[in-house]
Amino acid sequence: MLRLQGINLIIGTIVLFIALHLTFAPEHHTVRTTGSTLLGGISFLLMTFSVVLATRLEIFEEMFGGLDRMYQVHRVAGTFTAVFALVHFFSIPKELPPGVDPVLNSTFPSAQIGMASMVLLVIGLFVALNRKISYSRWRNPHKVMALVYILVIGHFMNAPGIFFERFSASGILLIVAALTGTVALVYTMFGMNKRTAMSFTIEAVNSLERATEVVLKPVGNMLKFKPGQFAFVEIQGKDWSEPHPFTISSAPNEDRLRFTMKVLGDWTRKVREELKPGGEVIVRGPYGRFDASKTGCRRQVWVAGGIGLTPFLSKLRAMEDDDDREIHFAYAARNKEEAIFLGELEAVAATRDNITLYPLFSDEGDFARIDVAKKRLPGGLTDYEYFICGPKPMVEGLMKDLKTEGVKRKAIHVEAFEFR
Ligand SMILES: Cc1cc2nc3c(=O)[nH]c(=O)nc-3n(C[C@H](O)[C@H](O)[C@H](O)COP(=O)(O)OP(=O)(O)OC[C@H]3O[C@@H](n4cnc5c(N)ncnc54)[C@H](O)[C@@H]3O)c2cc1C
Repeated sequence: MLRLQGINLIIGTIVLFIALHLTFAPEHHTVRTTGSTLLGGISFLLMTFSVVLATRLEIFEEMFGGLDRMYQVHRVAGTFTAVFALVHFFSIPKELPPGVDPVLNSTFPSAQIGMASMVLLVIGLFVALNRKISYSRWRNPHKVMALVYILVIGHFMNAPGIFFERFSASGILLIVAALTGTVALVYTMFGMNKRTAMSFTIEAVNSLERATEVVLKPVGNMLKFKPGQFAFVEIQGKDWSEPHPFTISSAPNEDRLRFTMKVLGDWTRKVREELKPGGEVIVRGPYGRFDASKTGCRRQVWVAGGIGLTPFLSKLRAMEDDDDREIHFAYAARNKEEAIFLGELEAVAATRDNITLYPLFSDEGDFARIDVAKKRLPGGLTDYEYFICGPKPMVEGLMKDLKTEGVKRKAIHVEAFEFR
C-alpha cells in the first residue's frame, strides 16, 4: 500500500519552495516571471524526486510502501514534471525587458538548453507511457532522462537574473535539490546494481503448466529476504538482456532461492525453452513490502490470481507451526491444470487448522469476487485484512468492491506485478 510519508515529503518540499519563491520574489521580477519560474521550479523538484526514487534505496521503500509504489510515484512525478515544464515554457517571457543588458543577463544559452531538455523530456515521457513499446526497447532510451536532468540544471543555473535569481531563497532550495539529484543519478548509474548484486548458479529448471520454476544455489551467502518480497533476476550470458523482477517463491530459511515464472513474453519463453542448469544468475534485491506477518489483524484473507500465487507460496512455506492467524486463502485459476502448486497448498491446508483454502476455477464459473467471499467467509467482510495479488482487473475489481462494502483502504494490501 502506498504510504503517505513519502507523498507528504514531496508535497512539503513543493509547498516550501512555493512559499520561499513567493515571499522572497525579487522586486524586479514581474508577476508573470515569478509565476512562470514557480512552475519551472516545481517541475524540477518533481523531476528530482523521480530521480531520487530510481535509486531503489530501502529508506524510500519504507516511506512509500515498497519499490512498486516508488516506481508508480516515479511515473506520476515524471508526468507532472513534463506538464509543469510545458506550462513554464509557454508562460515565460521570451524577450528581455527594454533596457536590460542581454550580455550581463545571460552567460550561457539558458533558453536553448531549456528548450532541448523540454523536447527530450516530452519525447521520453511519451515513450515511457506508451505501453505498446516493450520494456526492453524502452529501458535504454529511458536513460536519456539522466542527461535531461543535467540539462535542466544547466538551464536554471544559467538563467538570466531578470527571470530567475539562482541565489535567492527558492533558488538555493533548487540548488540543494540539484546536488541531491545528481548524487542520486551517479549512485543509480554506478553504485546501485553493484551494491545489491548476489551471485547464484542455476540448479534446476522445472517446467510447470505455462510456467517455469527456476531453482538457484547461492555462490556465496544466501540472499536475506522476507516472504512476499521480490528481486531482479539477471541471467548471465549473451542475449539474456535486462534484469526482470520476480517474487521469491521459496521461504527465507531454505538453502535455495526459487522463482516461479509465468510464460508471458519473449524473455520468460526463453527461460522455459532455453535455460539450462549450471549457468550463472545475478539476483538483486530484496525489494517490496507485501508482508502479511506484521499486521495487527489476525484474521486475513489472501487472494491469489494465477501467477499472483508466488508471494503467498513463500508466506506458506515460511509459516511457523505456532502461527495463530486465521487465514482464508482463495486461489483463482482457469482450471485445476493451471493451478500450479495446488497439491502443495492442499497438503499445507490439510495439516493446519488456521488455513482454509478455496480453489476457484473460472472454467467452472468460480471467480475471486466479493459475492463469493460474502458467501464463504465466516463473519463480516470488515473483520478481515486483505492481501491480494493477481491480474489487474481482478485486483482493481476486488479493491473497488471491498471499499464499497466498507473495508478500509488500509486493510487492503495489493502487490502490483508491474512498474510501468
Ligand atoms: C514486483 C514484481 C513481481 C513479479 N513477480 C512475478 C512472479 O513471481 N512470477 C511471474 O511470472 N511474474 C512476475 N512478475 C512479472 C514479470 O516480471 C514479467 O512477467 C516478466 O518480466 C515478463 O517478461 P517478458 O519479456 O517475458 O514479457 P513481456 O511481454 O515483455 O512483458 C510482460 C509485462 O512485464 C513487464 N516487464 C517486462 N520486462 C520487464 C522488466 N525487465 N522489468 C520490469 N517489468 C518488465 C512489461 O512491462 C509487461 O507489463 C513480477 C513483476 C513485478 C513488477
